Amino acid sequence: MDFTKYIEAVDSEVAEIIKDEVQRNKETLLMIASENYADEAVLQAQGSVFTNKYAEGYPTKRFYQGVGNSDRVEQLAIDRAKQLFGAEHANVQPNSGSQANQAVYLAMLQPGDAILGMNLAAGGHLTHGAAASSSGKLYKAHAYSVNKDTYTLDYDEIAAAAKEVKPKIIVAGASAYPRKIDFKKFREIADSVGALLMCDIAHYAGLVAAKLYPDPVPYADFVTTTTHKTLKGPRGGMVMCKEKYAKQINSAVFPGLQGGPLMHVIAAKAICFKEAMTPAFKDYQQQVLKNAQALAAELLKKGYKILTGGTDCHMILLDLRPNKINGRDSARALEEAGITLNKNGVPFDTESPFVTSGIRIGTPAITARGMKEGEMKLIADWMDQVLKNMDDAALKLKVLREVKSLCAKFPIYEK
Ligand SMILES: *Cc1c(COP(=O)(O)O)cnc(C)c1O
Repeated sequence: MDFTKYIEAVDSEVAEIIKDEVQRNKETLLMIASENYADEAVLQAQGSVFTNKYAEGYPTKRFYQGVGNSDRVEQLAIDRAKQLFGAEHANVQPNSGSQANQAVYLAMLQPGDAILGMNLAAGGHLTHGAAASSSGKLYKAHAYSVNKDTYTLDYDEIAAAAKEVKPKIIVAGASAYPRKIDFKKFREIADSVGALLMCDIAHYAGLVAAKLYPDPVPYADFVTTTTHKTLKGPRGGMVMCKEKYAKQINSAVFPGLQGGPLMHVIAAKAICFKEAMTPAFKDYQQQVLKNAQALAAELLKKGYKILTGGTDCHMILLDLRPNKINGRDSARALEEAGITLNKNGVPFDTESPFVTSGIRIGTPAITARGMKEGEMKLIADWMDQVLKNMDDAALKLKVLREVKSLCAKFPIYEK
């Protein structure tokens, strides 16, 4: 794909930067768990003339003229999202996962109402009530954590917390939790205190669509997601809900939070949902899972401490405290060796969020290149070498070259 054909003539500086970013996409291992490679069709839709269009409102109920094509493409995205996840209602307009969550809160809560979500340090997301986020500033946010010994969710503790704080909304979902979440149990807990249940599957959506991860749709009042993580679509968000909340959710997204919807992104979301219904997508997600489990097994064999001892999804959390190294330095050293991932706090971390004691590893993007279990073994070896010799510049350069040559065998964006 030619990414800079028209940019070069207009702006050589930006063209240069984009070329460098394409090269980084092609020649290094993208292993940030929340990232993926959107394919050429998704990218092309995002670069389409729909970027020109104002279409405030919803299909057949717009505030502008010339919206016939916008109606067609948004309705397609809505219908496909509902079919893909079996949802009663879908709003495909949120510009991001964070805005999808804000929309649910805006629709259902008054400022000062109580919410209960997963602690940021335990693996929750900022928008689940963290103090720095509007969810923590506007609402009375309470948090549940993971069990101190197993690092898994303890549903008795969550139920006890719910009884105590009487939240109006309970949030299930995480950004750094490698195990299955029992959404049915969350429903029971919500019912026991008369709370609404919001399940945020931003990370797991692709696996949920492929039926490889627990499905929250039957249990949740609201399911929120991003479309760019495991779902492999454009950068954006979505809210699904029971029909009875459809009107409130739609009003919260527009005009509550946003103005004109990003129609070019909505067109790309429609493509993403179509692709997610194919057998090839299911095979891909299956391999994402197999690769994460293979990589976890290799790292365990080398003596690394994997939180919870493995993974049920696309992500692995490595606790580096036994290795006497921190997340920040590890992530930097690995980047120098062509392996991009992120530092991540471990539950009950005593290091600051800027340093952290762990790293988070993801397989969605490398799997999109076609890599399989054999490649996971190579990657585990490289990670091990770098983490044990973080100051060895020659070693990092050697691994960087090996990474580049592996990437050349699994080309991406060559169409
Ligand atoms: C990534 C993520 C989000 C937010 O997505 P953005 O598009 O970055 O705003 C929300 N919730 C969870 C659990 C996430 O992991």
